[in-house]
Amino acid sequence: MNGAGRYAPSPTGELHLGNLRTALLAWLFARSTGRRFLLRFEDLDPERSDRAHADRQLADLTALGLDFDGEPQTQSDRWASYAEAVDRLAGRTYECYCSRREIAEAPSAPHRQPGSLRTYPGTCRDLSNEQRADRLAEGRRPALRLRAGGASETVQDLLHGEVTRMVDDFVLRRNDGVWSYNLAVVVDDAAMGVDQVVRGDDLLSSAPGQAYLAALLGVPAPMYAHVPLAVNASGQRLAKRDGAVTLARLARQGVSAGEVLTLIAVSLDLAGPTERVTPALLLERFDPAALPRRPWAVPGSPAGSLRA
Ligand code: GLU
Repeated sequence: MNGAGRYAPSPTGELHLGNLRTALLAWLFARSTGRRFLLRFEDLDPERSDRAHADRQLADLTALGLDFDGEPQTQSDRWASYAEAVDRLAGRTYECYCSRREIAEAPSAPHRQPGSLRTYPGTCRDLSNEQRADRLAEGRRPALRLRAGGASETVQDLLHGEVTRMVDDFVLRRNDGVWSYNLAVVVDDAAMGVDQVVRGDDLLSSAPGQAYLAALLGVPAPMYAHVPLAVNASGQRLAKRDGAVTLARLARQGVSAGEVLTLIAVSLDLAGPTERVTPALLLERFDPAALPRRPWAVPGSPAGSLRA
């Protein structure tokens, strides 16, 4: 087996317990199937990403005992690959001059699935050259969208089974020239030989669109495992403001990285509450079929729950 799994954080801050749990799961899925395990920093957004955050994230993952094959990749080094991929999509893209507000206020597309995120209403799909020139003359700068033509795509997910979604005309390049996550993730996973994507289940709905783009680019789509997110005491997605939920803040309360690994392992039903574990031991116990499928309700005081 020579495929690879990966963890692909955005270096926009410290990793919290939910991020660390997803990273551990990605490592377990990859290593238990004999895959290489790669790290990629998704720093496309120059205003939010920071090299210092990337260094801190790598240090935290290493402190948990996770190891990676090869050097971390960084998306800001790969601009030329994204441009080259978009060139290959000629005829399947179009310029979009809409502002966020115009998209939000446009009437819904008729095929919008109930409960799904807003899909692009198609305003700029068939602009004439003259209409484009008018918009440029107004000082608007275009984003570039995929012309998906209302297609549906199906992916296989190890935890969710077959997932089929209509593919939106999603953005490939923002109107400030920044390449989109949905483009870069497909180009990079293919270039890195990634054939197993383990990540938070908030991204499940974007997987069919990414697989569709992979097919257009002539690269294989990976297999997926979208894992449950961590939530705070009110059931909302965990965030750094939820208190001592990063390794650095827990360390200040006297909690070691090893104890954090125990806490995460307990949440995965892979260890007892006071057991000292290592990633290698968790690998021996790991069974994807037995993974808890509910969101992880992080204790209000993670440090307290370890001392209880
Ligand atoms: N960079 C994304 C995040 O931090 C993850 C994307 C992915 O794993 O495909 O949420």
